[in-house]
Amino acid sequence: MTDENKQTNFIREIIDNDLESGKHAKIITRFPPEPNGYLHIGHAKSICLNFGIAKDYDGICNLRFDDTNPIKEEDEYVNSIIEDVKWLGFDWEDRLYYASDYFDQLYEWAIQLIKNGNAFVCDLTADEINEYRGTPTKPGNESPNRNRTVEENLELFDKMKNGEFPNGAKVLRAKIDMASPNMNMRDPVVYRILHATHHRTGSKWCIYPMYDWAHGLEDSLENITHSLCTLEFEDHRPLYDWFIDQLDGVYHPRQIEFARLNLNYTVMSKRKLLELVEGGLVNGWDDPRMPTISGLRRRGYTPASIREFADRVGVAKREATSDIALLEHCLREDLNKRAHRRMAVLEPLKVIITNYPKDQTEEFEAVNNPENENDGKRMIPFSREIYIEKSDFMEDPPKKFFRLGIGREVRLKHAYYITCNEAIKNENGEIVELHCSYDPATKGGWSDDGRKVKGTLHWVSVEHAVQAEVRLYDNLFSKENPYEVEDGKDWKDNLNSESLIVNKNCYIEPSLANSNSEDNFQFLRLGYFTTDKDSTKDKPVFNRAVSLRDRKK
Ligand code: ATP
Ligand code: MG
Repeated sequence: MTDENKQTNFIREIIDNDLESGKHAKIITRFPPEPNGYLHIGHAKSICLNFGIAKDYDGICNLRFDDTNPIKEEDEYVNSIIEDVKWLGFDWEDRLYYASDYFDQLYEWAIQLIKNGNAFVCDLTADEINEYRGTPTKPGNESPNRNRTVEENLELFDKMKNGEFPNGAKVLRAKIDMASPNMNMRDPVVYRILHATHHRTGSKWCIYPMYDWAHGLEDSLENITHSLCTLEFEDHRPLYDWFIDQLDGVYHPRQIEFARLNLNYTVMSKRKLLELVEGGLVNGWDDPRMPTISGLRRRGYTPASIREFADRVGVAKREATSDIALLEHCLREDLNKRAHRRMAVLEPLKVIITNYPKDQTEEFEAVNNPENENDGKRMIPFSREIYIEKSDFMEDPPKKFFRLGIGREVRLKHAYYITCNEAIKNENGEIVELHCSYDPATKGGWSDDGRKVKGTLHWVSVEHAVQAEVRLYDNLFSKENPYEVEDGKDWKDNLNSESLIVNKNCYIEPSLANSNSEDNFQFLRLGYFTTDKDSTKDKPVFNRAVSLRDRKK
């Protein structure tokens, strides 16, 4: 039975019924990516759905690569997909399958289809097949080859397999109904000729099964009980069923469609993402601005936050676009509980505490995580010269500005109260340094006399800070719907030119110097950050995964 706390949905209801009626004793699902690109957050929804259902119902979920198109598929993609599904926290145990493992069986079944008089070899070109198909309102025309004898079809199919024809010269087609209102049923192609090297079967085959033929039969071979796919396959379901029904004694899984995940301010299809990668418009598939799982991981997203997001968007029959703010919210919620707090200054302004002894250093104890005492404490060094954020000082502050101004007092987090006495400028009139004084009686950042300050600033000690590069991200596209374009422009013109800001001259507290990638931190007042893979010992690099608050609010 399904977990009581889990949000139910129409798929879970179907499964509940199937278990109750005894139709199935054990639930088997699969996640079937085509290895022609990196996985994106839409795939994460499908992964969480398929593996999540298997987990909740004590069933199993297979990972199956749908590698039926040798031209676009590569091992790099296979490896990245394996890494991403694992990282999301799911386990297929020893059930890692490839469509290409089934090529022999699929071929045998194609022969059976021919023998039953349900398939024929067709000589029409791709363009002709298209023309003959008709339109949704106009029936198609039958291929002149439709009535070839079984013997002739078997012989020609054998020759196709043996490489006797060039690409496109012939195809094997199912013989269904050229007048069907469902275009997918108008004698669809089952096998095509492709002289290409396959990433796993090499040059063994020069004919490859079409998706519709392969997919349902793969499901059947794996005894998948519920084959969950996105809505665009709804019209393919009659074909899915028809193929399985033509073959004797073949197990019949049930295909169920759900709405795909769409997200605003980004594009989702692998083809589009590939275009961005190949056009050099982003820095690879794992660019932290990409909606890919590897990009989100590099940006600083956690598996738990993505699973939570998938759960919250739910599963429905109707297309909708989810708000990227929800994804960000899920991340904040997760990291607020777990991320260690640190101090870092992104746009440094030097402060000299003129009444603090020149060669003195103190260390202040700071909790790592106020949400969890067990996360311990660390020491933060303090000295006469510190950096604060440029934006934390104003020469002529308005009333509501609670940070530093001439004659104003603020708290330095974990340290002391300081009061600003003077702003030093360079010849261009820019403020380059502040002279402040501290109150020794406010050690730890608290005053005994009940004196209150409204502002608390983060800071780092100049002498002890480590220089770092910090990368700040914004949405990849500046339009909520990137496909909304003006005349003469294309979706790529909607890329946000300010989606990446690199700050090379940041300073971080020393305890951050040796952090590992995928460690998440909250930089006080700035957001959640993680170490980037470009980090070196001499030059740490951090990505901001998300700011502390939703910008729009
Ligand atoms: P894309 O259209 O982005 O290239 P795809 O559907 O071609 O994706 P596949 O590798 O064929 O990618 O998809 C693997 C599984 O993930 C399929 O079951 C597919 O339905 C599902 N999937 C793909 N995109 C989404 C999405 N945006 N939301 C939910 N599920 C998705
Ligand atoms: Mg696809």
